[in-house]
Amino acid sequence: MTERKRVTVLGSTGSIGVSTLDVIARHPDQYEVFALAAHTRVDALLQQVLAIQPRYAAMRDEVAAEQLRKRLRELGSDTEVLAGESGMVAVAGHPQTDYVMAAIVGAAGLLPTLEAVRTGKRVLLANKEALVMSGALFMDAVQANGAELLPIDSEHNAIFQCMPVSFADGLERSGVARILLTGSGGPFRNKPIPELDSVTPDQACAHPNWSMGRKISVDSATMMNKGLEFIEACWLFNARIDQVEIVIHPQSVIHSMVEYVDGSVLAQMGNPDMRTPIAHGLAWPRRQLSGVPLLDLVKVGRLDFQAPDEGRFPCIRLAREAMQAGQTASVVLNASNEVAVEAFLAGEIPFTAIARTLDGVMEKAALVEPISLDTILKADAEARDLAREQLSQYRKH
Ligand code: NAD
Ligand code: MG
Repeated sequence: MTERKRVTVLGSTGSIGVSTLDVIARHPDQYEVFALAAHTRVDALLQQVLAIQPRYAAMRDEVAAEQLRKRLRELGSDTEVLAGESGMVAVAGHPQTDYVMAAIVGAAGLLPTLEAVRTGKRVLLANKEALVMSGALFMDAVQANGAELLPIDSEHNAIFQCMPVSFADGLERSGVARILLTGSGGPFRNKPIPELDSVTPDQACAHPNWSMGRKISVDSATMMNKGLEFIEACWLFNARIDQVEIVIHPQSVIHSMVEYVDGSVLAQMGNPDMRTPIAHGLAWPRRQLSGVPLLDLVKVGRLDFQAPDEGRFPCIRLAREAMQAGQTASVVLNASNEVAVEAFLAGEIPFTAIARTLDGVMEKAALVEPISLDTILKADAEARDLAREQLSQYRKH
C-alpha cells in the first residue's frame, strides 16, 4: 500500500473546507487529515475535530482557541490546539504535512499559504486573494521551493486541465492563443441597474448556480470575483492581460476554456460543485471519485455565451487596470474590496457603493512597487484605512 498523504485544511469550517473533507472522507486509503484550521467558530471546528481526530487543530482567534482546547481536554481528545496566525502558519508548513488546502478567505490566508509554498507542499489554492496580493513573489516561491501548485478555483482548475502539459515558456510557445475565463454573471446579471442600489446582502449571496461563502458570493454579484480571477489567471498561467478574455456563460457548465492557435478550443465541463476541482487537485495526475453526479448534457439542454457588461460591472475594469498598473494596485484593490464587502454585508453601505469605494481608493492610493512581503502587508493596511475613509461617505443613515 502506498503511504497516505497527510493533508492540512486551512479554512476547514468554510464552504471549500467542508467540501474538501467530504472528498477526503471518500478515500480513507489515500488521505489522512493532519490538521484543521479555522477562524472563530469553536462549535463547528470541535465537531470536525471529534469526527476526524487530526493531530492538530488551529484557531486564528486566541479566545476561540482556548475554548476549543478546554472542551477537547474535557472530552479526552488527543488533538493539539494551536492559536493565532502563528498556529495557522505552523500547521501549513509542518514537516509532516504533504498537502495543504488553502481555503481561508481573503488576505488572512496570505501568510499560511505562502508558508505552505515555502515548505514545498502540494498547495491546493482556493484562496485567490493570497495570489492576487503577492503575484510574482508567490509564483517565484513556488519555483524556488519545488511546491506543486494546483488551482482549485473552478475556472483555473478548468484552464489547468485544458492547458498543454508544459506552459512554462509562455503561452505563445505552447500554441495557446487565449484563455477564455467564464463567469455566470452572478445573481444581478439581468437586474435593472437602478435597482442595484437597494439590493440586500441576502439577495447578493443568493447565487444562481454555486453555494459559497458570503464574501465570494458578494464578489460574484459585483463580478469582482471575475476580476480577481482575471489577475489570478495571469499569474498562474504566465499570461499577458490581452491573453485572458472574460466570457459570460450563465449556466456554469463550462468552467473555462483554452483556445489554441489552430482554432481548437478545449473546455472543461461539469456540474457546478467544487468537489470536482478539489478531487482533481488532490488526485492529480490521477482521477478519483468526488461525489459529484455525472453531467447530464441533455438535461442542461443549451449553453449560452455573452460579452461582460463593464458598465454594469465596473469591478472587471478595475481589476484589469490594477493588473496593468502593477503589484501594489492589486494589493490595494483586494484590500479595499474586503473592507467594502464587509461593510455591505454588515448593512452599512449600499451594494453600488462597493465599486465606488474601490474606484475612489484606486485613485488615491500610492502605488509604490512592493519588493517584499513587508511592503505588501503595509500597502494592504494603508488601503484598508483609505477604504474605510472613502466608504464613510456612502454610509446609510
Ligand atoms: P467561507 O467563508 O465559507 O470559509 C472561510 C474559511 O476561512 C472558514 O473556515 C473560516 O474559519 C476561515 N477564516 C476566515 N477568516 C479567517 C482568518 N482571519 N484567519 C483564519 N481563518 C479564517 O469561504 P469559502 O467560500 O470557503 O472560500 C474560501 C476561499 O476559497 C476564498 O478565498 C474564496 O474566494 C475561494 N473560493 C471559494 C469557492 C466556493 O465555491 N466557495 C470557489 C472558488 C474559490
Ligand atoms: Mg471561481
